Amino acid sequence: MSHPQGPSTQSVHAGEQRAKAHDSITPPIVQSSTYTFRDTAALVGYMEERMFWDAPQREEYGRYGNPTVRAVEARLAALEGGDDAVLVASGMAAITGVLWVFLGAGSHLILTGDSYRRTRDFVHGFLARYGVETTITPPGDLEAVEAAIRPTTRLILSESPTNPFMRCLDLGRLGEIGRQRRVRTAIDSTFATPLNLRPLEHGIDLVIHSATKYLAGHNDVLAGVVIGRDGLTAPLRQIQGVLGSVIDAQAAYLVGRGLKTLALRVERQNANGLAVACFLEEHPLVRRVWYPGLPSHPEHAIAASQMAGFGGVVTFEIDGDSTAASRFVDALRLPYIGPSLGGVESLVEQVALVSYFDADPDKLAVLGISPSLIRLSCGIEDTADLLADLEQALGTLGG
Ligand SMILES: *Cc1c(COP(=O)(O)O)cnc(C)c1O
Repeated sequence: MSHPQGPSTQSVHAGEQRAKAHDSITPPIVQSSTYTFRDTAALVGYMEERMFWDAPQREEYGRYGNPTVRAVEARLAALEGGDDAVLVASGMAAITGVLWVFLGAGSHLILTGDSYRRTRDFVHGFLARYGVETTITPPGDLEAVEAAIRPTTRLILSESPTNPFMRCLDLGRLGEIGRQRRVRTAIDSTFATPLNLRPLEHGIDLVIHSATKYLAGHNDVLAGVVIGRDGLTAPLRQIQGVLGSVIDAQAAYLVGRGLKTLALRVERQNANGLAVACFLEEHPLVRRVWYPGLPSHPEHAIAASQMAGFGGVVTFEIDGDSTAASRFVDALRLPYIGPSLGGVESLVEQVALVSYFDADPDKLAVLGISPSLIRLSCGIEDTADLLADLEQALGTLGG
């Protein structure tokens, strides 16, 4: 094909061989923990190839690779505009893998303050024990990031958009800071998807996703992926073989299956997110809405300049206390109550109860998370049905 393929085409076709086993149109699920050799000469040939060349043309053992997994990796790499993708057992396995690979005793990490809570837990609870120092910088503040860089800084890890306030970083500027100061940059792009944002094109070194969310898209599998260029993912692939947080072939198949409809799903979720955000912003019982597609969002201009759509997650504060927020959530009929986001079913959570039940109220206040803060992850339901449901649920608050 002479012109570059669009993301819908890539979601369906990239990285897949046209001729598959048994003439099947779907890629085979290779359910095998080990791979056999015809004879000793074949084994020795393979071992020699592996010594001198990073990527041998066949498999050896399940912890080092699987054909079903590789096909999905190729499609994910194409979608993000990377050379290589490493698909692993969960989003957290992807994040911790990157942190293990790029940091060591005496090195320094910069993390933004609104990073995924378990990422912060890992940094403070584990990496600190191994002599890695971390500076947490305020959300959305690139000057603070630059000021925090030390001679020992090896990695800047952030997210865009972030959870739950959907803060967006100027990725072009972050990439520039990384290149000038010789520090690697990694972005957890879970909330954006490669349909809405491609961080590598803005000069970021590594993109991370919890593929559990939009990429797989059906709330039925856990997976994570790291995508990069210029061999940066090679050490990550190696450490997978040691850490062992590999993804099973069945789970990888589900990710690949979900990916086929990624472009269609995200298109609807972008539309639902924007419509819901606009509706809520106009509603008298809603105090504030955070959605990067709204001009009222603090980083709307940055988001509009680097994103093709703003995703399906809308965060808002209703006019009332925690009990009123719970009453509203319980009155909703379409969204399920639960953590996670990005799947075909809409999900709703009172942020303080789902993500921070054990946190002390003072700490929550510092994070700006009020008891009536609600996060709605729009699924692919009809926009009119979602709006009608929100309207009736808000209606129960009036009396
Ligand atoms: C869910 C999520 C993760 C963790 O991913 P898992 O697949 O649940 O391990 C990491 N980062 C972000 C932004 C997430 O939403």
